Amino acid sequence: MSTAIVWFRRDLRLADHPALDAACARHGRVLPLHIHAPHEEGDWAPGAASRWWLHHSLARLDGRLRHLGNALHIARGDSLAVLRSLIERTGATAVYWNRLYEPAAIARDGEVKAALREQGIEVRSFNASLLREPWQVQTRLHEPYRVFTPFWRTLRTQLDAPHPLPAPTALRGVPIDGSLPLDALGLLPAIRWDQGLHEAWQPGEQGAQEWLDVFMDDAIGDYAQARDLPGRHGTSRLSPHLHFGEISPRQIHRQLLDRAAATSARRRPDIEPYLRELGWREFAHHLLYHFPRTPTENFNAQFDRLRWSDAAASAIERWQQGRTGIPLVDAGMRELWHSGWMHNRVRMVVASFLTKNLRQHWRHGARWFWDTLVDADLANNTLGWQWVAGTGADAAPYFRVFNPVMQAQKFDPRGDYLRRWLPELADAPLPQLHEPWKDAELLRRSGYPAPMVNLRETREDALAAYQAMRHA
Ligand code: FAD
Repeated sequence: MSTAIVWFRRDLRLADHPALDAACARHGRVLPLHIHAPHEEGDWAPGAASRWWLHHSLARLDGRLRHLGNALHIARGDSLAVLRSLIERTGATAVYWNRLYEPAAIARDGEVKAALREQGIEVRSFNASLLREPWQVQTRLHEPYRVFTPFWRTLRTQLDAPHPLPAPTALRGVPIDGSLPLDALGLLPAIRWDQGLHEAWQPGEQGAQEWLDVFMDDAIGDYAQARDLPGRHGTSRLSPHLHFGEISPRQIHRQLLDRAAATSARRRPDIEPYLRELGWREFAHHLLYHFPRTPTENFNAQFDRLRWSDAAASAIERWQQGRTGIPLVDAGMRELWHSGWMHNRVRMVVASFLTKNLRQHWRHGARWFWDTLVDADLANNTLGWQWVAGTGADAAPYFRVFNPVMQAQKFDPRGDYLRRWLPELADAPLPQLHEPWKDAELLRRSGYPAPMVNLRETREDALAAYQAMRHA
């Protein structure tokens, strides 16, 4: 009976798992393996919030495997060395995995694949995390897309009704010891700041499915309008589950289609706006794959000449800590710190404030998000930051500077979001909640800081820097 190793990375589920499915179909025994190798992720080893998520997600995956009579084997070290040693110990003849698209992972996987094939091992990799792979969507000239709308138009025509793979019902394992205990990976914080994450999330395949069910029951019908309102649960909050591969976009697409088909025509939800957001995720991966330097370099090289502010590091710290004195910015940064997540509309506002009003390089913001988001994802984070900063592919024009006061008035008109994350302002009447600096007594009483910058003046400074860059 032959043995295959299935190398679990960011595909921490059993259903719709092409590598696992192929291993079960072709081999009698399967060793599910996770290798802890952050040193192989280049400059982008998982941040603190991601490590928290990974710990719990691996625990859940192990639990599910044990139900099938198997278990997750956990190892640490260089991936190739670990795989070779396990091949030798188990007599495995095959190694299967699902593909990743970050530059460091592509380089590492290529080396592992070549080296194992050289020693006669069957190596196969699969697409488990995208609707279409980055090289499958091309312009008529066979080039990568740089603009979202035509990218999505092409991708949309390539989507058919997906048929996700079922989870295995049994999984014969390999008798082998030496798996590390999960705690040995040291993924959880030494100082327990993670209470808010526990309250907000349930990592794992089951948690992902439950979130999707809640979203389809409560919010999909109103998604196009409610997705911009941070005070409501109007979005799916599936981003960390998607990042860790606890659910696949194919599964989501299938379930949306089934739900729509099972609903009467009059009440049938329009699933297109939601699919389009999954399309942005695809676009982000497309860009990262074809332009692998963009996590640190401007996509639009013209912006290499933009003069960023050399203000003290304390300015960035105030932004990180949610003490800028601008309510929507502070509410967002505190939501991030507490729950490891931030609403998309608010991400745009805090990113605009950092890059335009404070004129700090978008890389500072991308790094902070990397460490604090449970959904920190190199493709999506890079796209998001470069889009807001105006430096990216198909980005918002640089001269579009979000006004955080107007954004709060428009998208949090009753102040629910601000009151939730700024408890010291919870009793303030609405106009002062949006502009607390207009009420000196409120600032004194609440201890909420005065604004660290003047929004109008800093907007003009940003536009002047932009003009100077264009004329340079
Ligand atoms: P929903 O509205 O329910 O959307 C469904 C899914 O579509 C999301 O889970 C996500 O996978 C994808 N998606 C939605 N919007 C976008 C988008 N603009 N770009 C790419 N994919 C999208 N998303 C991350 O997953 N990881 C990040 O590190 C990340 N960093 C960001 C940084 C900035 C500055 C900005 C402006 C956006 C960033 N985003 C990031 C995109 C977006 O904010 C989140 O994907 C979204 O808020 C997740 O919430 P949700 O799952 O409820 O989204």
